[in-house]
Amino acid sequence: MSIEMSKPVPRPGILDIAAYVPGKEHAPGVARVFKLSSNETPLGASPKAIEAFRAAAQSLERYPDGQATELRQAIAGVYGLNAANILCGNGSDELLGLLCHVYLAPGDEAIITEHGFLVYKIQIMGAGAAPVTVKERDCTVDVDAILAAVTTRTKMVFIANPGNPTGTYVPVSEIRRLQAALPKHVILVLDAAYAEYVRRNDYEAGIELVSSNSNVVMTRTFSKVYGLAALRVGWMFGPAEIVDALNRLRGPFNMNAPAIAAGAAAVRDQAFVESAVAHNLLWIDKLTAALETIGLKVTPSVANFVLIHFPDIDGKRAADADDFLTSRGYILRAVRGYGFPNSLRMSVGTEEANRGFIETLGEFMGRKA
Ligand SMILES: *Cc1c(COP(=O)(O)O)cnc(C)c1O
Repeated sequence: MSIEMSKPVPRPGILDIAAYVPGKEHAPGVARVFKLSSNETPLGASPKAIEAFRAAAQSLERYPDGQATELRQAIAGVYGLNAANILCGNGSDELLGLLCHVYLAPGDEAIITEHGFLVYKIQIMGAGAAPVTVKERDCTVDVDAILAAVTTRTKMVFIANPGNPTGTYVPVSEIRRLQAALPKHVILVLDAAYAEYVRRNDYEAGIELVSSNSNVVMTRTFSKVYGLAALRVGWMFGPAEIVDALNRLRGPFNMNAPAIAAGAAAVRDQAFVESAVAHNLLWIDKLTAALETIGLKVTPSVANFVLIHFPDIDGKRAADADDFLTSRGYILRAVRGYGFPNSLRMSVGTEEANRGFIETLGEFMGRKA
């Protein structure tokens, strides 16, 4: 029997977790606000997804399909996969959490990278395991640093590819080299939340690596290019044994019915995705060039956001820019928690938002774009 305490006490480690802080939403007192802080698409969701969501409202009294069959089959059809190897989640965040809770225990270690997505650390600690953080090189995941950190306790490695908030990517040859050198019992998690945006010949989201190995999983999301962040739709492609293990722990109805319907309609509308990607490619280039003209350093991005580095000059630091931009209605993401105390992350917006942002930031820096 355990000792009696004066109040309920969480498991060891839970109170060491720093809660996730989402991107800012409001600019008090400003009439017109452009939220560029959460990597949401400025183009909304496919009209077909919205229609499917509305139709689902007709039968809210019924439990959803616990297997999310329609959504898994739609994803499988579009991406050329076996639906049995797909697991859908209430956002990919849920799947990252399930992976940790199924495969990590106290005493285990999981490797994350210096500027990696904060959700990994939260879930690793939530499972009672120890996050081991390794350095990145030039804001890019460093495979050798990861391999050097592997110990007998290592059970998982988390990589966001492309990275958030860096926007950089690791070429498939490097991911293959990492997988080949990892012990076979270590799970390599490839979080490809921004994969749809990447147009590089040496990039692969991970489908091939998952298919040919028993220790690699790829997670994806409908929160970014598909514009369904509000509905919480994510999916994982993984080996049958890992999918089976996660299926045992997940909530029996973890996906809600409107999300299943809207997700399936969204993934079938690839023409909509193409137009969103085209908008993004155009503006990533324009924004990067304009920011450099203003005199700011930008990390080259293959995703739908840019990481902007500010000078170490009084009145011109990231926090000053953040205040100035917010007062004009442009909400960006402070990334101090990701190891960038003097940078801001800007999500690509509409043409109007992007142009206004550049003009406003130029004014702040005293330089015209
Ligand atoms: C946005 C994002 C996700 C998506 O999370 P959801 O729970 O699917 O909304 C996952 N990983 C990274 C790195 C992200 O930036």
